[in-house]
Amino acid sequence: MYEFIHTGLPYRIVFGPGQLSSMADELTQLGVKRPLLIVSETDSGLLTAARNFLGDVPYTEWTSVAQHVPIPVAEAAVAEAVSQAADGIVTIGGGSTTGMGKAIARRLGLPILAVPTTYAGSEMTPIWGETSDGRKVTGRDARAQPRTVIYDVNLTLTLPAALSAASGMNAFAHCAEATFAPGQSPMNTSFAVEAMKNLTRGLPIVMSEPDNLDARGEVLLGACLSGVVLASAGISIHHHICHVLGGMYNLPHAELHSVVLAYALQHIERASPGTLSYVGEALNVDAADAPAAVRNLTRELGLPQSLSEIGMKESDITDAVTPLVESTANDLTPLSPAAARDLLNHAVHGQDDWFER
Ligand code: NAD
Repeated sequence: MYEFIHTGLPYRIVFGPGQLSSMADELTQLGVKRPLLIVSETDSGLLTAARNFLGDVPYTEWTSVAQHVPIPVAEAAVAEAVSQAADGIVTIGGGSTTGMGKAIARRLGLPILAVPTTYAGSEMTPIWGETSDGRKVTGRDARAQPRTVIYDVNLTLTLPAALSAASGMNAFAHCAEATFAPGQSPMNTSFAVEAMKNLTRGLPIVMSEPDNLDARGEVLLGACLSGVVLASAGISIHHHICHVLGGMYNLPHAELHSVVLAYALQHIERASPGTLSYVGEALNVDAADAPAAVRNLTRELGLPQSLSEIGMKESDITDAVTPLVESTANDLTPLSPAAARDLLNHAVHGQDDWFER
C-alpha cells in the first residue's frame, strides 16, 4: 500500500546545450538587476563564459571560493554583496561555488541563479553547508534553494574525466540512498532509478570520450535528478559515514562518496536484505548483487577503490569508530562498534572480500 508525503520545491530548470546564453533573460525573469557573480578564480574559462553572456547587466565579481564554504570567506562575500547593493546571485561552477552562493542567499534572502558545472547536485537543494575551525555545519533553508538553474552541457566538457567519474558517483550515491532514505516516496524512487540509469549509461562513455555531448548530457540529467531526490528524500547511513570521515580527515568529497558507497550498501544489504531492490533494478542485478555492481562500476571508471588511496590511514580507524556509531544510530541499519570497525578495516584497505555473499 502506498503511503507517503512528498513536498515539491519551487525551482525553474533550463536544460540544454548552449543555454548559458539565456542567463541575462533568466535574471530578468527573476527580477534581478545587479547580481553578484560567483565563480572560482581557478575556473577562468567559466568566468569568461559568464562575462560574455551577462552582457550589459551591471554585476560584481566574487572569485574567492573554497571547498566546504569557510565561514570567514562567506562573510566577506556577504559584505561585498551588501556594499555593492546586489539584488541577486549568479553562481557558475561546482558544488563549492554553489555553496558560496547559498551562504550569501540564506543570510541576505537574495535569489540565486545557479549554473552547475559538475555533477554534485547541490543546485537543486535547499541544503547548505559551511565550515569553521575544521567543523562542518549543515542545514536546510528555503532561501538557499536556487530559484533558477541553467544546465548547459557545453560547460561540462572541460571537467577532467577522473573528476567527472567521481562527481558522477557522488550523484549516484544521492540516488541510491534516496530509494531507502527517510523521505523515500514513489516519485523520488522513480527519479532516482532513472538517474542511476542515466549515470550508469553515461559515465563509462564520458571516461573514454570526454567530448561526447550526448553522454555528458545523460550524466548531467542524472546529476540534476540526483539533486532533486537528495533534497526531497534526504540522506541515510552512507551520507552519515561520509560526513564523519570527510570532516575528521578532510577527504575529497566526491571521491569519498565514490569509495564508501559500495561498502555502505553491502552493510545495508546484509542487515536488511532486499532494501537495495531499486538500486539493483537500476543496475539490472538482484538487490543482493547491487553493492558488488556499484563496486565494479567504480572500478570500470578507474576510481580509487580504498580510503587509503584518498588520504585515510589505518591508524585513523580507531578514532572514527565511535563517531560512526553515533552518526548512524537513527538510520535504518545502524552500525554497531564491531560493524563500524569491520567496515572501516575493509574500506581503508579496499578489500574485495567485503562483497562476497
Ligand atoms: P568543487 O565545486 O569543489 O569542484 C571540484 C573542482 O572542479 C574544482 O577545482 C573546480 O574548480 C573544478 N571544476 C568545476 N567545474 C569545472 C568544469 N566545468 N571544468 C573544469 N573544472 C571544473 O566540487 P564538487 O564535487 O562539485 O562539490 C563539492 C562540494 O559541494 C562539497 O562542499 C559538498 O559538501 C557540496 N555539496 C553540497 C550539496 C548540497 O545539497 N548542499 C550536494 C552535493 C555536494
